[in-house]
Amino acid sequence: MKLRILGINNMESRDTRLSGYLVDDVLALDAGSLARSLRFDELRRVEAILLSHRHYDHIRDIPALRYSLRDPGRIVDVFGIKDTADQVRARFFAPPAWDGVAEGVEGPLRLHEAEPYEPFQVAGHTVTPLLVRHSVPATGYLVSDGRASLFCTDDTGRSLEEVWKRAAPDVLLTEVALGDAMWERAQEVGHMTPSLLAEEMAVFKSIHGHFPASSSPT
Ligand SMILES: [Zn+2]
Repeated sequence: MKLRILGINNMESRDTRLSGYLVDDVLALDAGSLARSLRFDELRRVEAILLSHRHYDHIRDIPALRYSLRDPGRIVDVFGIKDTADQVRARFFAPPAWDGVAEGVEGPLRLHEAEPYEPFQVAGHTVTPLLVRHSVPATGYLVSDGRASLFCTDDTGRSLEEVWKRAAPDVLLTEVALGDAMWERAQEVGHMTPSLLAEEMAVFKSIHGHFPASSSPT
């Protein structure tokens, strides 16, 4: 499994990019910086996009992709849980969001509602949405190519025991958006601090006997 980290920041500048990852060149997680991080030939290989939640820094490039992927017959599947799909549809898929795109041109993005905990196949991978804890409804995605697995929590706070029961990935992508001095704030808004993440990893180990990415007790 090939992983490219496109953006891990929640504020954009010349040197920082909003949330986004690319798996095996074809499956994107989040669209915070997807369009601006890839060349055209790389963008044309993307088959599907998994959106974690409605926050702007995770969906921002959806309109840009609508313009950039207008190859005839091209379809890119976009997945999100109901809240995310509803918000993306309302913000980006309703007129007049597409002013400037020639009338009659079939848009390349197809929005799908993903059912939590229901695996589905897309872009050659098995994907399972697992709900996480954030200030708005949010999901992480467990992605498997049949040999290796990756779980991306995206924005989340603590108390993920139900997630860890369902996911023992080879690779874990998660966050520490705030420092330990802001742990109360982190729990209010659904983010991790280093200490909160350490507590979560202790829960993971108590369930699986090892940390993510290690197959034996450590
Ligand atoms: Zn968020």
